[in-house]
Amino acid sequence: MGHACGHHLIAGMSVLAAIGAASFLTSIPGTIHVVGCPAEETIGGKALLVKKGIFKNIDAAMMIHPADRTEIVKLSLSMQRIRVTFRGVSSHASATPWKGRSALAALLSLMRAVDINRTTMPDGDRIDGIIKSGGEAANVIPDLAEAELFIRSRRIESHSRLLRRFIHMVKGAAKAFRVEYGIEYVGNVYYPLSPSRTLAGLFADQLRKHGIKIDNFFTDSEMGSSDIGNVSFVVPTIHPTLAITDGPCPAHSKAFQEQSGTVGAYRSVKTGAVLLTSTAAEIYKNSGLLSDLKSNTIFNIVDNRRR
Ligand SMILES: [Zn+2]
Repeated sequence: MGHACGHHLIAGMSVLAAIGAASFLTSIPGTIHVVGCPAEETIGGKALLVKKGIFKNIDAAMMIHPADRTEIVKLSLSMQRIRVTFRGVSSHASATPWKGRSALAALLSLMRAVDINRTTMPDGDRIDGIIKSGGEAANVIPDLAEAELFIRSRRIESHSRLLRRFIHMVKGAAKAFRVEYGIEYVGNVYYPLSPSRTLAGLFADQLRKHGIKIDNFFTDSEMGSSDIGNVSFVVPTIHPTLAITDGPCPAHSKAFQEQSGTVGAYRSVKTGAVLLTSTAAEIYKNSGLLSDLKSNTIFNIVDNRRR
């Protein structure tokens, strides 16, 4: 759909913020890194950058996401993309159906198992998916069926539990229909966002200073997933949203794509850059904040690790 999530605005804000921050770094020692992060919506590019150590020795990481409301701390869910394949035995569906083993039957059974399991899943656990293929001809027992699913949860530990539960469902479906199964993990695990309390407070101050209405300081509803979560596990991070639309308008919609290309949206690039630069300036002005950032300042990281 093109820029239906406003990532071009994120890039603009970050680059402009770094240029702004460079202006005060002539008098104060420090380094600003602008980290280009591709493939957020496919394999979790930031997860790879974290693994490669790009965020080592960094005091704070910030990015602003355009949205239809301004929220400072919006939590996100973990995520793993999974491809499931069932392989059975094809046979003529009328002449010799008893010689077949239906891969599609196993896949339908898996989807049904996911739906029924939903009633006993913890809040925030999500499994959603689509059937990618389920046979070639109606008069043939399908020997191949494939699905793609997303597993999400509020915490890394509950994510692992949900994943194990899902694997039971896949094995169960394969067993019930005497077919083989394959599970492929696509891309990286997206970690749930664990934002920095100190950075969130500093950013909120800047919004107030610039007269920008805060819709929510903290929210854990209507959550998606983002690889910024992986960054937040290794460096104090914030990922606030900035309203660029006039009213409610969900991301990844045609309407949001249009709104993220307006003059108003491009003006928000400057606003976002000013907010990021002035938040960074506060840290540079007050070295005490650095130890604050390093100590127990992350919103739910402790919970994330314990549960
Ligand atoms: Zn996005």
